[in-house]
Amino acid sequence: MTEPLIFEISSPGRCGASLPACDVPRTPLPAGMVRDDLSLPEVSEVDVIRHYVRLSQLNYGVDKGFYPLGSCTMKYNPKVNEVAARLPGFARTHPYQDPDSVQGNLTLMFELQEYLKELSGFAAVSLQPAAGAHGELTGVLIIRAYHQSRGDSKRTKMLIPDSAHGTNPASTSMCGYTTVEIKSDARGNVDLEDLRAHCDDTVAGLMLTNPNTLGLFDEHVLEIADLVHSCGGLLYGDGANFNALMGIAKPAQLGFDVMHFNLHKTFSTPHGGGGPGSGPVGVSQRLAQFLPGPIVVPAMAEDGWVGGPAEHADEHAEEHTGKHTEEHAEECHALRLAMPKHSIGRVKSFYGNFGVLIKAYTYIRVLGAEGLRQASQDAVLNANYLMHRLKDVYPLPYDRTCMHEFVLGGPPPEAEGVHTMDVAKRLMDYGFHPPTVYFPLIVHEAIMIEPTETESKATLDAFAEAMIKIAEEAVIDPDLLHSAPHVTPVTRLDETRAARRPRLRWVPPRQD
Ligand SMILES: *Cc1c(COP(=O)(O)O)cnc(C)c1O
Repeated sequence: MTEPLIFEISSPGRCGASLPACDVPRTPLPAGMVRDDLSLPEVSEVDVIRHYVRLSQLNYGVDKGFYPLGSCTMKYNPKVNEVAARLPGFARTHPYQDPDSVQGNLTLMFELQEYLKELSGFAAVSLQPAAGAHGELTGVLIIRAYHQSRGDSKRTKMLIPDSAHGTNPASTSMCGYTTVEIKSDARGNVDLEDLRAHCDDTVAGLMLTNPNTLGLFDEHVLEIADLVHSCGGLLYGDGANFNALMGIAKPAQLGFDVMHFNLHKTFSTPHGGGGPGSGPVGVSQRLAQFLPGPIVVPAMAEDGWVGGPAEHADEHAEEHTGKHTEEHAEECHALRLAMPKHSIGRVKSFYGNFGVLIKAYTYIRVLGAEGLRQASQDAVLNANYLMHRLKDVYPLPYDRTCMHEFVLGGPPPEAEGVHTMDVAKRLMDYGFHPPTVYFPLIVHEAIMIEPTETESKATLDAFAEAMIKIAEEAVIDPDLLHSAPHVTPVTRLDETRAARRPRLRWVPPRQD
């Protein structure tokens, strides 16, 4: 790093604070509370501001540039979402408040449950899980509870395609199931023969990502659902790629029994640096009573109501408007929290990550039904455009229309000794965040690109041109790539050391 750090511009006696004169008697602090050995920087207010602004600019985020990190869906996070999440009526409420005093919050949660049901076709939704992987764990626990409730204890296996995200087998083993890997076929679909060979009465279910992590829509999703159901298993949907289907196809109608949503991917809430996220789970009618709770239900719904049409309450309220008092109409619209009858329990404190729910709700309301469908269509269009610009330069292992992302097979074969990691690092010199690399595992030297719908053609072209230029450099001057990046605050890292022995704070030089 070339610019001085805040400790290095420290100058004895300089001070950034101007406190009012003390107007209470001075009292010494208890012994042990004052440490004289802390070497704090002595800096002015403007030094502090510049220090933090500079640090914030060292970070690369979607607000700074193109971020085509495949699978992660780094779409633009509309700022109106943040405004909504900061409204005092939301931000200053507390989960311990009486439900009567937070009916606005409950209404937002109830409507979000309804929107997710409408988009997915599921009968009921719980907003509890805190992320996609947490939604998977929840979904697999629901599958387990369902089989147990039927006294069906033979089922010990979860089938998972070899293209799946690593969180799928992890969630599975946390629930005590054994993972059985199912091969992909030459078109990138689940290999039906392999699946057929593994379907028997020990199968608890199959976890399918559709579109899958190759960015391909599984052409046999209906047959897969039939096969899994015919042996008594359930079909789990990893909904991380729902941003390609939103407003176009409903997973419940494709045969899925349970699916998690990644609100921080599909519904635009920010998720750099590990969260907070939100991974609501939707289920079909037969699984509804196993959902984690509490979920939000109409106050007048009968006990055990967890889903199904909300019109009932609305109609009732409308009937009474005018006829009785306005208070009565309001009572009919009131909401309460309920635990489903056979709930797997709580999977998160209180009601999930409420701030994230507000942002996703705002996104849905701003776009509306048409807008959500358009977002999916544009995501798919952008990915196909980039794929076509790059496929003559980089190997494309599955050459078919992609969904919202696509996977290249590493640098051009002529570029000897150059690897995907070198291409990724060199992209930083061109000012782009690298795509996802070396995932999915079934593609050698994978480069997984997800442009998202919020990028202009100009940005996509600039990225394509950088990728094409890098492909040329890879052949002419491979060392330029091996030593990249050259213009970033830190250059090529020893990744193992950075992961195992990270230097997370500045240490003053020894003064002896
Ligand atoms: C992101 C992702 C997950 C995990 O979701 P998190 O919210 O990061 O826990 C699971 N599967 C796929 C395909 C993903 O892209």
